[in-house]
Amino acid sequence: MERGLLSDERPVVALLDVASVREAAASLHAAFAEVTAPGRPVLHAFAVKASSLVPVVRLPADCGLGCEVAGPGELALARAAGVGPERIVLDSPAKTEGELREALELGIALDADNRQEPERLDVLMAPGALPSPSASPIGLRVNPQLGGGSIGAMSTATATSKFGFALRDEGAREFVVRACVERPWITRLHCHVGSQGMSLETMAAGVAATYEPAEEINRAAGERRIDTLDIGGGLPVDFDSDEITPTFAEYARLLRDTVPGLFDGRYGPVTEFGRSLPATCGLILARVEYAKSAGGRPIAVTHAGAQVAVRTVFAPEAWPLRVAAYDGRGRPKEGPGVVQDVAGPCCFAGDLVARGRELPALEAGDLVALLDPGAYCFSTPFDYNSLPRPGVYGFTVDAASGDGEAEGGADAGGRADGVRFATVRPPQTLDDIVAASGGDQRDALTAPRP
Ligand SMILES: *Cc1c(COP(=O)(O)O)cnc(C)c1O
Repeated sequence: MERGLLSDERPVVALLDVASVREAAASLHAAFAEVTAPGRPVLHAFAVKASSLVPVVRLPADCGLGCEVAGPGELALARAAGVGPERIVLDSPAKTEGELREALELGIALDADNRQEPERLDVLMAPGALPSPSASPIGLRVNPQLGGGSIGAMSTATATSKFGFALRDEGAREFVVRACVERPWITRLHCHVGSQGMSLETMAAGVAATYEPAEEINRAAGERRIDTLDIGGGLPVDFDSDEITPTFAEYARLLRDTVPGLFDGRYGPVTEFGRSLPATCGLILARVEYAKSAGGRPIAVTHAGAQVAVRTVFAPEAWPLRVAAYDGRGRPKEGPGVVQDVAGPCCFAGDLVARGRELPALEAGDLVALLDPGAYCFSTPFDYNSLPRPGVYGFTVDAASGDGEAEGGADAGGRADGVRFATVRPPQTLDDIVAASGGDQRDALTAPRP
């Protein structure tokens, strides 16, 4: 507030804790280093869709991670973040021919998702089809069909999932083995059994069910044809407490116990964790504009709704967010708990980020913080009501400086109270909204014909 991040024109803001993203990246590296054969590097590719902001993508990259991208937009973000092609994995289920060609020319790893994709690749990988032979590692995505987790929309290993080769379907495993044996340039298998709501045991079983056909392919090919297993992401996040659970270390140890062959040095593992890196590293801060009551239910009308937490609003059971209450100066609110709704600014009745939540009575001018929005909130904006996308700022607590001199201003490097803020994404302006909404095409439907 004192730093001008939150104001009348900008009553909602997102803050990202830079150090905790770095800590999460370090714990990921350490977890897999503990279980991997010495000298066998693991490529950890951050799933860009979890937080598709260039500086955020650059942060894990700066910690030695790569990127997993699901289409041309995310690929452009990864490249804009300076991630090298040899550290990018492309996993879209709907790659066009042009996207396949671009990935192959750049040398980006890609995972084919269905029976037609290897045929397209046959054409592109034929001698002379590209300006120079591709350096892209190529894999096949498999679906071990282990069933879903607690969130249907996040379960990618159901019997009828749209992703990958459904391994238990009749003839599918034989097809995968043959497709790999016939194509020496297929060197990977990939699986990602789900995101949030999957048990670690199911995730590890999915990796085991990917390892087995890899072994079969290598026996059939008479050589180590498959040299890399990409085990996807999906480590669930605990949104109910400040604890980080489960940890990367627990998952890595479970994988070592379930699929020891993955780590004995014959395979170069790739991971694709998304949410578990930034999810708990920040908050969305919004002003309570009004406090009212309806049918006996107190309602705080705030500026944080579906435009910043679309999943929480539309699927509240699956994506609950904790809400913390502060007064207008940012001090934690005291007082007895009152069951209330925390509403957003959007013009539909379901725009609530918390329903019947017990919190100190919220009043106009207070602040609410939505905790742990670091994953999938900034990458799933909702343009309903043309509400501006809020600014996203990274903050770093400066151990050396605690003199409490507030300087105001929120520019990159702005420093106050020993906390430095950096602009990750400036707040959307009204001009930006008009421009993104066909502002330049004003007369497109009404101008007289030429
Ligand atoms: C979404 C996705 C991920 C990341 O999932 P998280 O649950 O965020 O870790 C990794 N790989 C693929 C193929 C995905 O679709």
